[in-house]
Amino acid sequence: MNSRIYLSSPHMGGTELEYIKEAFEANWISPVGPNIAAFEQTLQDYSGANHAAALSSGTAAIHLALIMLGLERGDEVICSSFTFAGSCNPIVYTGATPVFVDSEEDTWNMDPELLEEAIEDRISRGKRPKAIILVHLYGMPSKIAEILKVAGKYEIPVIEDAAEALGASYRGKKLGTFGVIGIYSFNGNKIITTSGGGALVSNEKTFVDKARFLSTQARDPAPYYEHSSIGYNYRMSNVVAGIGRGQMEVLDKHVAIRREIFEWYRDMLENIPGVSFVEEETGMFANRWLTTIRIDSVLSGADPEYIRQGLEKENIESRPVWKPMHLQPVYKEAPMYDRGVCGKIFSDGLCLPSGSNLTEEEKKRIETQLVKLFEVTKPAKWV
Ligand SMILES: *Cc1c(COP(=O)(O)O)cnc(C)c1O
Repeated sequence: MNSRIYLSSPHMGGTELEYIKEAFEANWISPVGPNIAAFEQTLQDYSGANHAAALSSGTAAIHLALIMLGLERGDEVICSSFTFAGSCNPIVYTGATPVFVDSEEDTWNMDPELLEEAIEDRISRGKRPKAIILVHLYGMPSKIAEILKVAGKYEIPVIEDAAEALGASYRGKKLGTFGVIGIYSFNGNKIITTSGGGALVSNEKTFVDKARFLSTQARDPAPYYEHSSIGYNYRMSNVVAGIGRGQMEVLDKHVAIRREIFEWYRDMLENIPGVSFVEEETGMFANRWLTTIRIDSVLSGADPEYIRQGLEKENIESRPVWKPMHLQPVYKEAPMYDRGVCGKIFSDGLCLPSGSNLTEEEKKRIETQLVKLFEVTKPAKWV
């Protein structure tokens, strides 16, 4: 049996161990230490945000962002439906209710028109949403200008969930720096990883200072443990931050390789009727964390599940796209502003193996199998 090809596996650059070794030699194992400060500095320099706090996960970063925006029980927060549960679960942690908004077809991200409709409708029902969580799915920038215009009109702060979008940019500015707060994730399958971790970035020093305070159990200045607010254990450790420092050195390389992988898939499949890709619009620079396709089963004769199982037979991992939140059992009661777009993408979308460490031999295996699968399903009328 051929060795397994993963969707997106950790890819170390080489210097991570040196930073970890430094931490061990100085016995800076926990909690804070020089790797954390250095990692935060590189995140600031890279993103262009004025301040950054290294945390235990992207989900923790969203939770702290919501707390700092003053979320309370009974409040409402708007969130993209087409995302991973880590985007919206923190809304529920605060006792607030998520209100989901559908995607537009072009970028698969939040539909700005529908966002405005949702806000108007929530206000007419007596609840002004307290925040908007905007997700840049698979590293593709949202229609940010349009979203910010709507958010600005109603004066609702935007939290940018750039967990999948580190290294992507919009009109020359890095994603994560458009909202009042941005978050990144360094979970195992993301474009860079610290084995597990996240960060919160902002131009507002008060937010980042407060995130550090809350993430280390909210200790007031005193020799004993004094608490006047509820804290969390959400800080990144100094050992983990060492991995992050090494990974930041190869981030741009990973982006370049993932973009090449996207081009390679597009060259391979673009002439197959019914297969389509998500394209960048002018001013958008995607990190192509994962290459995703849509498969029109009438035109191609194939459906995503057939292709997924066909790849699986060759020990190649692919995966359905994220199942939208409004279709999740746990969120079935949550309000949803829907035009059926992300639900449809869920039924015809597929994520292809996109790791920056794919070898030429592995790419050959993927290509052979993909081309074969589409060839077999090809309707007679193609020829
Ligand atoms: C991974 C991810 C998160 C959560 O990040 P963790 O570090 O895994 O907690 C949030 N939102 C999106 C869109 C993600 O892909």
